[in-house]
Amino acid sequence: MKTAKKGITILLKTGILIAAALPQTQSNAAGSQPNAQFGPSNPFYAPSTLPLQAPPFDKIKDSDYQPAIEAGMAQQREEVRAIAENPDPPTFENTLVALEKSGQLFNRVNLVFNAVTGANLSPELEKLQEIEAPKLAAHRDAIFLDSKLFHRVESIYNQRESLKLDPESSRLVEYYYRAFVHAGANLSETEKAELKKLNEEESTLSAAFSNKLLAATKAAAYVTTDKNALAGLSDARLKGAAQAAKDRKVEGFVIPLQNTTQQPDLASLSQRATRQTIFENSWNRAERSGPNDTRDTVARMAQLRAQKAKLLGFPSYAAWKLQDQMAKTPDAAVKFMDALVPGSTAKAVSEGKDIQALMDAQKGGFTLQPWDWDFYAQQVRKAKYDLDEDQIKPYFELSSVLENGVFYAANQLYGITFKERHDIPVYHPDVRVFDVFDADGTQIALWYCDYFKRDNKNGGAWMDVFVNQSKLLGTLPVVYNVANFTKPAAGQPALLGFREVTTMFHEFGHGLHGMFANTMYPVLSGSQVARDFVEFPSQFNENWASYPAVFSHYARHYKTGAAMPAELVAKVKKAAKFNGGYALREVVAAAELDMQWHTLPADAPLEKVDDFEIQALKSKNLFLSTVPPRYRSSYFAHIWQDEYAAGYYAYLWAEMLDHAAFRWFDEHGGMTRANGDRFRQMILSRGNTEELGKMYSGWMGGEPSIEPMLKFRGLVPEESGK
Ligand SMILES: [Zn+2]
Repeated sequence: MKTAKKGITILLKTGILIAAALPQTQSNAAGSQPNAQFGPSNPFYAPSTLPLQAPPFDKIKDSDYQPAIEAGMAQQREEVRAIAENPDPPTFENTLVALEKSGQLFNRVNLVFNAVTGANLSPELEKLQEIEAPKLAAHRDAIFLDSKLFHRVESIYNQRESLKLDPESSRLVEYYYRAFVHAGANLSETEKAELKKLNEEESTLSAAFSNKLLAATKAAAYVTTDKNALAGLSDARLKGAAQAAKDRKVEGFVIPLQNTTQQPDLASLSQRATRQTIFENSWNRAERSGPNDTRDTVARMAQLRAQKAKLLGFPSYAAWKLQDQMAKTPDAAVKFMDALVPGSTAKAVSEGKDIQALMDAQKGGFTLQPWDWDFYAQQVRKAKYDLDEDQIKPYFELSSVLENGVFYAANQLYGITFKERHDIPVYHPDVRVFDVFDADGTQIALWYCDYFKRDNKNGGAWMDVFVNQSKLLGTLPVVYNVANFTKPAAGQPALLGFREVTTMFHEFGHGLHGMFANTMYPVLSGSQVARDFVEFPSQFNENWASYPAVFSHYARHYKTGAAMPAELVAKVKKAAKFNGGYALREVVAAAELDMQWHTLPADAPLEKVDDFEIQALKSKNLFLSTVPPRYRSSYFAHIWQDEYAAGYYAYLWAEMLDHAAFRWFDEHGGMTRANGDRFRQMILSRGNTEELGKMYSGWMGGEPSIEPMLKFRGLVPEESGK
C-alpha cells in the first residue's frame, strides 16, 4: 500500500511565496522581539557553508527558528514591496524573476522548520508552529492578494505571446498568473479581507488538528503489563514493545498506533480481545470527547473551505482545488474512482468469505470483524501460499534493501551512485546522509533518510527538501525521506516486511524527482507538481522492488547472505497481490470520503462528523463494516493537516499513470540505462516546467490508459462482476 506524507508522501511546498507582510502592529505571540534577536549569530542568517548548503543542525537550536522566520518574512515583505512598487513598467525580469529571487532567508529557515516539526517535534517547536501558522497564511495572502503586484503579473501574462520567452519561462508566467487568480487576486477589497480571515482560521484549525492528532495517537497506544495479551507477537516485536514502554517510562509493553486505521500487529496477535482493543483505540483515537477530539475541528474546516470556494466563485472546495490538477474537475476524479468501486468491492467481499470460511473451519464461532481481518488473512495467505512474514523478513534487512535494492535500481536505470558521509550534522542520531553522484562523477544532490518511528514524529512516510534545486539561485537539491519503521532493539538488525520495502522504493521515487531536478526557477523545481502527478514518480519506482534483477540483488538473508530461494520469491510476489480487494477498497473509501467532505456547498450546515461519514460511504456503496476506510475523517491527516484536501484520489490517479508507464518500460526492454535516461530527461528532471498531461503523453507517446492498472489489480472488466 502507499504511505502517507505527513500523512503520505510529500508536502507540496509553495515555499518561495509563503512569506510576506506581517502587519507591523501585530504583536509577537511569544512575547519576544524577533528582529532584535536576529543577527549573524543565528545559524539561518546566511546560506549554510556546508556542502550544498546543508542545514547546520549542529548549530541550530529550537530558539533560532522564530527570529529567523520572522526576519525572513519581514525581509521578503520588503523585497515584494519593492517589486510591486517598482516605477518601471512590468517585465518578466523585474517582476517574476525578482519574485523567484525573493524570500531566500525565509525559505532557508522554513524548509528546515517544516522538516523538524514533522519528524522531530519538541514542545517548544510545537508551540511555535501554532503561533506561526496563521502568520504564514497571512503572509501568503499578503503577496497573492496584493493588487499592485497582481496587475504587474497580469500585464506580463497578457503580453506573453509577444515576449518570445523560452518554454520554462512561459510556464512561469502562467504559473504565477494562475496562482494569483486561484488565491483570489481578482476579488474586491472586501472579499479579499473576508478571504484572509477564512484562510487564517483554516490554518489555525489545521495546526490545531495536527497537534491534537499527534497527542491523541500517542495517548491511544495499547499499554499492558500482561504478556499473555500479546501472544502471537514475535520475540523481536515483544522486545520492541518493551522498549517502547521503557521509553515512555511505563511498566510492561506499549504498542504505539500507526496513522492508518489498521495496525500492523493485528496480523499476529492471537488474542481476539487484544485485537479488538487495539483496533478500537485506533478507530476512536480522535473521538474521545476530550481535548484531543478532532471532530469539531474538521467539521468547521469543511465548512470554512466551502465558504472560501464560494467566495472564489466555485460551487465547492474540490472544484476550486482541482483546476490546476491533471484531473481538472471533481467529476473527472469521481468518475475515475467510481469505476474502481464494483471490482474492488467484489474482490474484498470474496476475500472476506475466504476468511470467514477459515474461521468457521477452526470453529471460531464468531462473525468476521475488522480487527480479525489481518490476523485471519495472514492464515488464509499462509494456507494459500504457505508464506508467513517471519519467514521472509530475514531477507529484507534495511541496509541491504537500501543499498542493494533502492540504490542499485537507481544505479542501473540512471547511472547514479551513493556514498554515505558522517560529517554532515543531522537533527537526530537515526538520520543518515549520502552524497549522490551522477554517472560522470559530479555531485547532483545530498540525500538524507530518517526511517525509524519516534513518538515525536508524524505518522506515515514522506519526502521533502531542505534546499530546492534552482539554476537561477545556483542551488543543488538537498532531499530527505522519512518513514516510521519499527526500530529494532539495540544490536538487532532492522528487518522489514515487503510492504515496508515498497515504502522505501516509493519515497525514494519522490526523492529522485527532487534529486534529478534541473530547472531554472525554484518554484517549478522537483516534486512541486500537481498532487495527481506527484505520486507518479514514487509509485512508478515501487515497481522495481519486485523486478527480478533488483529483487535478487537485495533480498538476501541477513545472517548467511543467501539469496531468497526461488519458490519463496514466487510466493512473495503472488502473496503481494493477496488481500488486494481490501487494500484497494480501503483507499477508495478514504478517497471518496475526502471528495464528499470537499464537495459540500457553502450553505451546508456544520456536519455531525460520524453521521456524515456513514452517509458519504453508503451513498457510494462503500459502507462495509469489515472494510473500514484507510483513514477515518477524524484522523485523516492528509486532508486536514497536509495538502491533500480534495486530493486523496491522486494516489489512485497516479497509480493509473504508474502502471501505464511501467508497461511502457516493459514493452521497450525493461530496466535499461537508455529507458532510465529518457525517463529522467523527459519527466524526472523537469518538475512543473510543462503542462503535466502533455509532459506525460510526450514521454509515453499517447494518453495514459486505466487498463494496465485494472489488470494489475485483477479488476479487468470481465472480472469486476459488473
Ligand atoms: Zn508518495
